[in-house]
Amino acid sequence: MMAAGKAAESGSSVILLEKMPSLGKKLLITGQGRCNITNNLEVKKFIADCGPQALFLFGPLTRFGFESTLKFFEELGLKCKLERGGRYFPESDSSRDVLEALEGYLAAGRAKVTTNVRVTGIRKEREGFSVTAGTEVYRSNRLVIATGGKSYPGTGSTGDGYSWAADLGHKVTPLKPSDVPLNVKEDFVKELQGLSLKNSELTFGRGSKKIKYFGEMLFTHYGISGPIVLDASRAVGLWLDTGPVDCHLDLKPALDEETLNRRLQREIVESGKKTFKIFIKEYLPAKLIPVFIALCGIGDDLRVNQLNAAQRKKVIELLKDIRFTVTSLRGFDEAVVTAGGVDPDQIDQATMESKKVRGLYFCGEILNLDGPCGGYNLQIAWSTGFLAGKSSGEK
Ligand SMILES: Cc1cc2nc3c(=O)[nH]c(=O)nc-3n(C[C@H](O)[C@H](O)[C@H](O)COP(=O)(O)OP(=O)(O)OC[C@H]3O[C@@H](n4cnc5c(N)ncnc54)[C@H](O)[C@@H]3O)c2cc1C
Repeated sequence: MMAAGKAAESGSSVILLEKMPSLGKKLLITGQGRCNITNNLEVKKFIADCGPQALFLFGPLTRFGFESTLKFFEELGLKCKLERGGRYFPESDSSRDVLEALEGYLAAGRAKVTTNVRVTGIRKEREGFSVTAGTEVYRSNRLVIATGGKSYPGTGSTGDGYSWAADLGHKVTPLKPSDVPLNVKEDFVKELQGLSLKNSELTFGRGSKKIKYFGEMLFTHYGISGPIVLDASRAVGLWLDTGPVDCHLDLKPALDEETLNRRLQREIVESGKKTFKIFIKEYLPAKLIPVFIALCGIGDDLRVNQLNAAQRKKVIELLKDIRFTVTSLRGFDEAVVTAGGVDPDQIDQATMESKKVRGLYFCGEILNLDGPCGGYNLQIAWSTGFLAGKSSGEK
């Protein structure tokens, strides 16, 4: 939408082909319907958070970064507000307003929008391109491919563009779900389904490599999800290529073992007659208690003043370190974004034109560019879409 609108504004005659009955199905579900439209990170930090291939983004982000994005939407009548973590959302908290702003932009430039048209093939002709959609063939001098990734395929993003890119001679790096929940081996984790922990710390490890995340996580019927897990999935996904990954949950990250031990000793003295099951309520959310007691191997009717040193040590150990094993990523249908895709090395970062096929442009998630949750992925789409539209529209 950004690319088509910008190309139309630049004076070209534009047709946007969309296979769904309406535009922006995925945009509507972004940010849980609120659309985290961008973030205010410096270009260097943005790129570092997205990983090595994101160096490519230096061009697009310096030409059309978050400030340009906010200005662009403001000119379309959409004001945004800044929230925690430098994230921007529409003031109205409605992703539909973002979609309507873009639809207005397309209409203002007289871009022709054709929905319910699924492109099935693309050919480079002697002059320009032919684009096949069922029995229809569209011809154009220049072509922008913005078919997105493979995640949440129900929104229309089924990865159709990757094979066209490959057929036209582009390298497509392996695709992988990213910003995605994780499957866990241990059954006790599944018993915690629905439990959300706000201030937890997860450490993922493989051999001497360790990576820590602090914040909110959620237990599910298959394993773990929630903001810190989605963030972690980017790094953990790479390790999972060569086998399972250890995960350690610290339920009391603000307290070291010694402090926790002193507190436990003191409270045992104060409430010695309580059963362990009642006593431990002070430390844990209700849903976690049966699982925790089972992991401790302590009878729940045991009075706390009867706990021996080894049992107290076990309680402390588990409060600081519940271990489980991550076996795999969940699938594309649950992934916020697709990692992998058209290799940006084959794209001109000033114009988004293919270095392989003149007149062909790529933008958005189809590229091997992706970031964590937090406005990164839409900003990538805005920046690359703006440049693809501008340069394809101007020629
Ligand atoms: C649940 C969820 C929440 C998210 N929240 C955020 C967020 O808050 N902030 C953020 O920055 N990012 C978020 N993202 C990621 C972000 O939405 C995507 O990275 C972004 O939409 C990619 O834009 P795109 O235009 O490249 O692709 P898409 O938005 O996927 O659009 C591609 C379009 O191409 C169409 N298409 C595909 N194949 C064909 C074909 N053969 N013929 C015709 N049309 C076709 C599709 O129907 C689709 O409309 C979220 C993603 C998900 C799944």
